[in-house]
Amino acid sequence: MFGGIEAGGTKFVCAMGGAAGAVLKKTVVATTTPDKTMAEVNEFFRACHRIRPLSAIGLGSFGPVDLDPDSPTYGYITTPPKPGWSNYDIVGALKKALGLPVGFDTDVNGAALGEYRWGAARELDTFIYVTVGTGIGAGGMVSGKLMHGLIHPEMGHMLIPKDPRDKFEGGCPFHGGGCLEGLASGPAIEKRWGKPASELPPDHPAWDLQAQYLALAFANCVMVLSPQKIILGGGVSKQKHLYTMIREKLRRLLNGYIKHDKILTDTDSYVVEPGCGEESGIRGALALAEQALPRKEESLA
Ligand code: ADP
Ligand code: ZN
Repeated sequence: MFGGIEAGGTKFVCAMGGAAGAVLKKTVVATTTPDKTMAEVNEFFRACHRIRPLSAIGLGSFGPVDLDPDSPTYGYITTPPKPGWSNYDIVGALKKALGLPVGFDTDVNGAALGEYRWGAARELDTFIYVTVGTGIGAGGMVSGKLMHGLIHPEMGHMLIPKDPRDKFEGGCPFHGGGCLEGLASGPAIEKRWGKPASELPPDHPAWDLQAQYLALAFANCVMVLSPQKIILGGGVSKQKHLYTMIREKLRRLLNGYIKHDKILTDTDSYVVEPGCGEESGIRGALALAEQALPRKEESLA
């Protein structure tokens, strides 16, 4: 049995599950202060452990986070916009409280791993998972390995040109209306149009603009990473008509330059919904736990 945590700025989803990624028990804890939130998280896992012993914990976290195993601040949430969580040793806190190995990655890499194991990215090795919700984030794999690099990708803050039609100043504290998140997150849509995104009808001009911004970002991803698939999740992607609009605009932006059937004719299977529905993140966290188990050669050493 494994414990999984999908740690977000508003809530921590915690689950117990097995190696097949099925969630057996789940709870949701509000993100308040580290002490209070983590006390509830630890309480949940202690209760799980009494039912079925846990072997490891997997954590996909909001960030930015330090993923460098050689860094003195490995396992920290470093400089998040969420007050109270700066320089917080979240992996250390879990290890100390539960005494279990902890697998750690970004929330979006966790979701990408869930999709790789059980969802839309099975049998792929290079793909991205994008979430458009309160913020915009993306993770994924290159050649079968989750992307880390210098820190970790921050594709949600990709710099993209503002549409000439768009008079909204933008909502990113770092880039204003110069980046994807500043222009296309759920809160950006709400501020621009004066209504929550969920209340805008499918024929509202908001969606053409939204699809344009996401297609611009995806076109850049295609050029930079050559992903075999782009998986789009998050609250805003509940607007299912967006997928068709994005696919058309992506084709138009690439303008025949990327000569592959996935782009030219088969875009329906290229920009897709998550195969795990809303469970990519939490199931991915269970997979991160499995990855944290000591490997056989290590345990023999
Ligand atoms: P979070 O990003 O906080 O983890 P979500 O992925 O659910 O959570 O994203 C929340 C955002 O998604 C909110 O800004 C909300 O406006 C937007 N959202 C939620 N439901 C819908 C919907 N049905 N249509 C469009 N936007 C939605
Ligand atoms: Zn930004």
